[in-house]
Amino acid sequence: MRAAVTLSLNPMRSPYPRHPRAGWGTGGLMSGWSNSTRRDRLPRNWASLRRRVIRRDGGQCTARYSDDRRCELPGTDVDHVVPDSLGGSSDMSNLALLCPFHHRLKSSSEGGTAAALARKSVHRPTPTHPALDD
Ligand SMILES: [Zn+2]
Repeated sequence: MRAAVTLSLNPMRSPYPRHPRAGWGTGGLMSGWSNSTRRDRLPRNWASLRRRVIRRDGGQCTARYSDDRRCELPGTDVDHVVPDSLGGSSDMSNLALLCPFHHRLKSSSEGGTAAALARKSVHRPTPTHPALDD
């Protein structure tokens, strides 16, 4: 049996405020977005696209660590794989479900390296466990 790796950083206890969009399921269509200019770039059917992405990705964060292991946290944020600011579309193929931690990690590193950064392991300094070497 493979033990689950404990993440050193628990996003659920993050000191940062949750993004309004993380509060999905609380009802109001488009509610909480009034202060966001990002709303203008999102398609009209974003709410339903968002639900489809959540369903497709099984409600789990799709970020992967350097060893290709998938993040095990629940996904709450639908992210543009290629940022819309860089011409990324809002098709299902360019949308992925992320946990608040990985979404913040990716969003805070805007630009072409964002995807690479999101894939990088920040939790585990060593890529392989010593016990797995032989
Ligand atoms: Zn994650």
